[in-house]
Amino acid sequence: MDFAVEPEFQAKLDWMDAFIRDEVEPLDLAFPGRAYEKPGERLRAIVDPLKEQVRARGLWACHLGPELGGQGYGQLRLALMNELIGRSAWAPVIFGCQAPDTGNAEIIAMYGTAAQKDRYLRPLLEGEAFSAYSMTEPQGGSDPRLFTMRAVKDAGGWVLDGEKYFTSNARNASFFIVMAVTNPEAHPYQRMSMFLVPAGTAGVEIVRDIATMGDRSGHHAHIRYTGVRVDADALLGEEGGAFAVAQARLGGGRVHHAMRTVAAVKRAFDMMCERALSRATHDGVLADKQLVQAAIADSYLQIQQFRLLVLHTAWLIDQSSTRQARTQIAACKVAAARVFHDVVQRAMHLHGALGVSSDTPLARLWQSAPLMGIMDGPTEVHQASIARRVLKGYEPAPGLWPTEYLPDKIAAARAKYGDI
Ligand SMILES: Cc1cc2nc3c(=O)[nH]c(=O)nc-3n(C[C@H](O)[C@H](O)[C@H](O)COP(=O)(O)OP(=O)(O)OC[C@H]3O[C@@H](n4cnc5c(N)ncnc54)[C@H](O)[C@@H]3O)c2cc1C
Repeated sequence: MDFAVEPEFQAKLDWMDAFIRDEVEPLDLAFPGRAYEKPGERLRAIVDPLKEQVRARGLWACHLGPELGGQGYGQLRLALMNELIGRSAWAPVIFGCQAPDTGNAEIIAMYGTAAQKDRYLRPLLEGEAFSAYSMTEPQGGSDPRLFTMRAVKDAGGWVLDGEKYFTSNARNASFFIVMAVTNPEAHPYQRMSMFLVPAGTAGVEIVRDIATMGDRSGHHAHIRYTGVRVDADALLGEEGGAFAVAQARLGGGRVHHAMRTVAAVKRAFDMMCERALSRATHDGVLADKQLVQAAIADSYLQIQQFRLLVLHTAWLIDQSSTRQARTQIAACKVAAARVFHDVVQRAMHLHGALGVSSDTPLARLWQSAPLMGIMDGPTEVHQASIARRVLKGYEPAPGLWPTEYLPDKIAAARAKYGDI
């Protein structure tokens, strides 16, 4: 086992590290909350040259595998890149790998026809368009079998009717990927299909943009689709194949998001350590107090454990496939929400009043903590899927007592070696 990064790739990471710190993080301060909007001329003049530098280094839109036209860095290297990208809200856009566009690009690359790739994927990869993923419905998010939005064949195309909830960045998207019931009589996992719907198609109505905590404008749309007519070639993948498409979408993306979480919690941790050494109180500094030391040690442990879990998961995907690593990917999703919550909470608490003010990044991080365990499926659903798969490796006890029942084991050992 070798934890070293090969020098050639380390040089790329070093460049990214400095570039993100010097050029990209200032965008977060100068233009907060604007990374996902279509840039006007003045913003383009600043942002486009930065994107050009990323392209020139071969670091643009690296999330696609070589078979899908990407760089082919593999998940482990992508994880290390995302650990740097996660430091800045603008960095994913500057590196052409912002969610939900990455996952959307992935499924178009995997399931799209040549015409669909040309129309939807190319502008996404060139950074000329944003997209949105419209799956959750007002009456059900965690269980897609409860979705009711319909798509009905009509005049050689499809007509879509229904409502979707929390479609992120819909107002800036050029198109939506929409999941709808096409065969209500089929098995629940074959009932739905995926569609590519251009923004502005008649009948697509953004009812309102919903704001999450601390968000002023809100960018998760409640969308009503009323008699939305699309051509037959709007179908992405096979009819009835939406579950397979949705599954394929989330594999690598969850690992990238987990590594960005490492970056975010490291920032909180660095702040916690600096504060502990700087703040004088009760005959010393915070760092002298054992309860503070425990908070620092626990945070360090959680971050290290989490980081290794994510890197191992990325490695496993590279060695096998996303499918083979499903348990580990779900574990990353559950652990990300916990480590984020715990470390940010401790960092914020150690900063006292300053920590809960909006004068440090901590308040903003904290506002994301509850979201982490909900978006992309709640923690419990991922826990259940981990447990289901883990339990497949076990059998019930053969009789009344567990296989580790000591009286039986001791009797068996004595029968083998005798009693001296
Ligand atoms: C910031 C953010 C961005 C999002 N972006 C998008 C997007 O772009 N596109 C999109 O389609 N959706 C998006 N979503 C929606 C997200 O996918 C759903 O919120 C999520 O799947 C949960 O669905 P729900 O909100 O309907 O919660 P519900 O399904 O109502 O679940 C509520 C709670 O019930 C409990 N629960 C649910 N199921 C189980 C179970 N099986 N076992 C035990 N407990 C359970 C959990 O505690 C869960 O938190 C986003 C959500 C957030 C917060």
